[in-house]
Amino acid sequence: MSDLIGSVANLTGYRDRDLIDSTFVSVLGDWLDPVRLSLYRCVGDVADLRLLLQARMRKGVGMESGDPSWTALDALPALSAQPHFEQAFASEEPLLDLPFENQEGPWLNLFAVWAGARRFGIIELVSEQPLLPVQLRLVTGLLKIYRNQISLLDYSERDSLTGLLNRKTFDEQFLKCLDTMSAAVNDDIPVPTWWLGVVDVDHFKRVNDSYGHLIGDEVLLLVARILRTAFRHSEHLYRFGGEEFIVLLRAEDDDEAHLAFDFFRQQLASFAFPQVGSITASVGFTRLRPMDNASGAVDRADRAVYHAKRNGRNQVHSYESLLQSGLLSEVNNSGAIELF
Ligand code: GH3
Ligand code: MG
Ligand code: MG
Repeated sequence: MSDLIGSVANLTGYRDRDLIDSTFVSVLGDWLDPVRLSLYRCVGDVADLRLLLQARMRKGVGMESGDPSWTALDALPALSAQPHFEQAFASEEPLLDLPFENQEGPWLNLFAVWAGARRFGIIELVSEQPLLPVQLRLVTGLLKIYRNQISLLDYSERDSLTGLLNRKTFDEQFLKCLDTMSAAVNDDIPVPTWWLGVVDVDHFKRVNDSYGHLIGDEVLLLVARILRTAFRHSEHLYRFGGEEFIVLLRAEDDDEAHLAFDFFRQQLASFAFPQVGSITASVGFTRLRPMDNASGAVDRADRAVYHAKRNGRNQVHSYESLLQSGLLSEVNNSGAIELF
């Protein structure tokens, strides 16, 4: 029992979601010794949710790591293709003792995972025998602790208006992106290319001035929703300030990143906002560099945003192509503090 309390104490001590997820799976797995235990997040468009594996434990194999968070959405299994999962995700109660892969045992048990009002994942527990009441209590108890932990994190890491991640979280996750780049260099595997985009709503002051702050807030909420549907994973979307958002994404090259940002720009521009009508945004983006720092990268993307603003708004520009075409010149944004 004291072991269990110790493991739970570990779980509640972490602030990193990936670490919380894998600890949750390993604690539960150690106590239940299941055939398979997986924690999935449901990501992507609400109308076409996909299952992203966060962590898994398998009998005889041990802990396995999940899918990288940048996996393309279409490469992930669709929630709707797995009716039991879909049913469990929508239900307050777990689905228990389902036959697994149409055999008589092992048994499949599915639990929806949510924090506050946000339903975001599924636990798949495959057990050799139907779960005993004491085991079920352990799962639901640990799940409550896990949910509380995620709710606390959501509270400190998310923006209360839009539910997107906040600026503080951006600074931390930015470093994580750079880590994935340097880890790839060290392991001699292809280095992921990350891009940072700054999205600034055009003439947003006019919305507030003409329709009031409440309608302004409503517009920001809808902009956040369009961001969520236009980009692959909401884990990389941040509200940076009033009507400014940041997007971190992976793309092969400048053209591919441009396509992704321009897709969002078009989705926004073609959306009919209640009362307000049409809203546009200007987007500037830049490629992350191995020794980058958050403020330097945001500065570069910001400069591309200003270029878009000066040239009529409702457009997407990359800092690097503006440099190449001579429309911008490189600034020293090493982030070093100038003492003199
Ligand atoms: P531009 O196209 O040059 O970006 O014009 P703009 O009017 O969008 O630019 P500016 O940055 O000057 O104005 C942003 C406005 O956003 C100012 C402020 O009134 C409004 N704003 C900032 N935060 C919020 C918020 O949380 N809610 C609402 N309703 N308005 C906000
Ligand atoms: Mg602004
Ligand atoms: Mg603006």
